[in-house]
Amino acid sequence: MASQPDCLFCKLVREGEHVNAAEGFVAIEDINPKAPVHLLVLPERHVDTLRDVSTFEPDEAKRMLEFVADTARNAGLEDYQVVVNVGPRAGQTVFHLHWHVLGGGRPFE
Ligand code: AMP
Ligand code: ZN
Repeated sequence: MASQPDCLFCKLVREGEHVNAAEGFVAIEDINPKAPVHLLVLPERHVDTLRDVSTFEPDEAKRMLEFVADTARNAGLEDYQVVVNVGPRAGQTVFHLHWHVLGGGRPFE
């Protein structure tokens, strides 16, 4: 889906500070970190939730996962958590697919 005018993460894809980038994907720092390192991986293309993952081409989906791992590696993380909240009852608050990368300590304590 094209960039959504009212979507915060579409805006951060366009003009945010990116800690990592690859074709079709960017990573940003979470504004309210829940671990010493808390990054968010965003596809540039607007997709509401992981439920719509089939809208990615197989190669694009593979590259997205590789970009998640690459972002963690670039941040110096060896052990880390990857979290995707899907839907409001699971804690999703921003409806542009994003992958939380948490590490550098034990998150959620
Ligand atoms: P979720 O609750 O899974 O939808 O995750 C949304 C995440 O976006 C939360 O961890 C927020 O802290 C983070 N967030 C909200 N606004 C911003 C922002 N302006 N820049 C970076 N991260 C943000
Ligand atoms: Zn968006």
